[in-house]
Amino acid sequence: MTVKDIFETMDYGPAPESAAPALEWLVDMGDRFGCFIDGKFTDPGETFEAKNPATGNVLAHVTQATQADVDAAVAAARKAQAKWAKDGHKRARALYAIARLLQKHARLFAVLETLDNGKPIRESRDIDIPLAARHFYYHAGMAELMEEELPDQEPVGVCGQVVPWNFPLLMLAWKIAPALAMGNTTVLKPAEYTSLTALLFADICRQAGLPKGVVNIVTGDGAVGEMLTAAKVDKIAFTGSTTVGRRIREATAGSGKALTLELGGKSPYIVFEDADIDSAIEGLVDAIWFNQGEVCCAGSRLLVQEGIAPRFYDKLRARMDKLRVGDPLDKAIDVGALVDPVQLRTITDMVEGSNGDIHRAPGPLPTQGCYYPPTLITGLSPADRLMQEEIFGPVLVSTTFRTPTEAVELANNTRYGLAASLWTENLNLALDIAPKLAAGVVWINATNLFDAAAGFGGVRESGFGREGGWEGLMAYTRPKGSSRPLREIAPYTTDDGDPIPPLDRTAKLYVGGKQARPDGGYSRPVHTRTGKLLGHASLANRKDIRNAVEAMNAARGWSRTTGHLRAQILYYIAENLSAREDEFAARINHLTGGRSGDKEVVQAIRTLFRWAAWADKHDHRAKPVPMRGTALAMNEPLGNIGVLCDDARPLMGLIEPVAPAIALGNRVTAVASAPYPLAATDFYQVLETSDLPAGVVNILTGDHAELAPHMAAHAGLDAVWSFSSSDLSAEIEHASAATLKRTWVNNSRTRDWPTATWLAQSTEVKTIWIPYGE
Ligand code: NDP
Repeated sequence: MTVKDIFETMDYGPAPESAAPALEWLVDMGDRFGCFIDGKFTDPGETFEAKNPATGNVLAHVTQATQADVDAAVAAARKAQAKWAKDGHKRARALYAIARLLQKHARLFAVLETLDNGKPIRESRDIDIPLAARHFYYHAGMAELMEEELPDQEPVGVCGQVVPWNFPLLMLAWKIAPALAMGNTTVLKPAEYTSLTALLFADICRQAGLPKGVVNIVTGDGAVGEMLTAAKVDKIAFTGSTTVGRRIREATAGSGKALTLELGGKSPYIVFEDADIDSAIEGLVDAIWFNQGEVCCAGSRLLVQEGIAPRFYDKLRARMDKLRVGDPLDKAIDVGALVDPVQLRTITDMVEGSNGDIHRAPGPLPTQGCYYPPTLITGLSPADRLMQEEIFGPVLVSTTFRTPTEAVELANNTRYGLAASLWTENLNLALDIAPKLAAGVVWINATNLFDAAAGFGGVRESGFGREGGWEGLMAYTRPKGSSRPLREIAPYTTDDGDPIPPLDRTAKLYVGGKQARPDGGYSRPVHTRTGKLLGHASLANRKDIRNAVEAMNAARGWSRTTGHLRAQILYYIAENLSAREDEFAARINHLTGGRSGDKEVVQAIRTLFRWAAWADKHDHRAKPVPMRGTALAMNEPLGNIGVLCDDARPLMGLIEPVAPAIALGNRVTAVASAPYPLAATDFYQVLETSDLPAGVVNILTGDHAELAPHMAAHAGLDAVWSFSSSDLSAEIEHASAATLKRTWVNNSRTRDWPTATWLAQSTEVKTIWIPYGE
């Protein structure tokens, strides 16, 4: 065969990587694994088989952890934590040692990962393992810098971490490296299908001299994940399906455990007609056929501009027909084996149920093992099941669009929001579209780029929290400082009955820039401590929340205004409040029966000034990612936030959360202090004279316990915060599972939150990757 022939046929023989080192390691370990607890492997208990999905062969036997194993692992992690947290430099050295050992044993890790998961060796060797090592290097640096750069943060404590089977070692690294860097200890559960590299990692921890108890690995199925979620840990970090993420949100509700969820996606891959088509096609190979499409952020929903669609699809079919599916250990293979026959069946059933135009790559498939051909389904409508649901396999679905506006609409027409790719040679268009996409990560003229310095994570039902970068450290630290228990405050009442005042003094709600009667028409009297009637406060209900959400939606433009404008308006609000200082101070004193009204007003004015100052200073970051290009970490507003205000402080309870939220571009609906509502309702007169656009701040009054579950479940709210003295945290977190919105609840305690926490809670980091060059 001549070189010319080879170029023409592109036919090349097999180039298999040897499985020997990994199989030898399994034999050395006795082929049977216990859990890794307190620095050593336990004796194997009841075991299940770890199989090679490419052949069906049994690789090893892995222990199904028991409740006693989980308890022992958590106890070991707890015992080790305080000492581990003490010395950042020692942690840095340990993480560095792990990174070095990962590199030293890279081949062993890569082969073992490929045997256990079915992914092509090319990918485990060139992507999974190097990225895992990079994560430990990067976070070795974070451990070193923690004391200096994050002096006000402390570790969360013991972390329970649950990872899926698609990137077993990489997800482990994403979880364990930042946790350890910040002084936490961990108990990690790998997925049942893919435990082996986690067990090899445990072996590496021993070699690195990691103190015992700092890393613990418990193996087993979802039941072990459930035990870990229920255990006495301080934080749960989960990557996996949205269904299980939702279950974990419910299970941890009210427990006070910190939670981050990295869930599913149906990420759009948008190709504009001026795109470099060949590059966009090559990008698609990485977007949907990388890792057999078993990727949470896979570009699985192709949106092509109508003018180029026929040509694009032709080229795409020609390219996918050349993909080689087969033995994952073959270095010349593009698509390996699916993780398990269960996954193969799920994908097969989903595709067979489709009524689109199905094109399957015609190349040969191995006769045994879990293989599925690269598949393209065109002619689907946006509402089709396969356009909406995660297939988690090598199946691309597609539709076309006409205009950039339509592209954004289609891209965002999903309950998920993990990632998006967009392809155009027009930089203006790219930078116009990227911020409009509901996604935690956007790749411009690229796809599936990852780095430890760049945050990764989703919005909407793709979960919350970021992994990687400075922003990822927020999930593994909490602000130093102590909290105090909150006591519920009952409204003042009177025994004299409720005299009908000569004039209607019912304070209305404030919705969409207007005073609004409550939907139910109910109100309650508000008295001073001595029983004097101060007025009536409206009692809002579910429908008033709905109206407020509509008003916030109508005020979306606020999120696109400049920080400078938002600052000006906050200053103006402060100025107008200042003009009525005495009146507000007196009102607060009447409501609370205290004497600190003047102090509270001064504090409120200061808070408004402070957040006016921050409105244009929460800087975005440009991340030094290892490529020619940059990744921008943009601090975007969350959208619509519902707040239950602190009951004890009639005015500050409102201003403290509302000022940072709107300063950073959110729209807010605040439910005022339940016992002392009338300072908040006076405050809308200040808002009315301060040029604040209608709907940016809406003020409701009423019963927190009645309104909280409606806020938490409302699909139109992107976050709910509770500073209420009523014990509503569990209920809010539980109800929020339906929409997986972000929650920030007080668990019936109060404290002064530092600026960094307000900034982080009011924004979401969107990472926009911009490669340079022709
Ligand atoms: P799961 O969400 O079920 O599994 C993820 C991890 O959670 C695994 O370690 C699993 O254990 C564990 N787990 C399962 N149930 C519970 C529970 N009740 N409490 C705590 N932990 C639990 O994903 P699957 O692996 O079953 O995959 C199903 C689908 O999820 C895929 O087809 C895909 O659509 C999606 N998925 C999305 C991922 C992403 O990154 N976004 C990753 C993986 C899957 P075990 O594996 O042992 O059952």
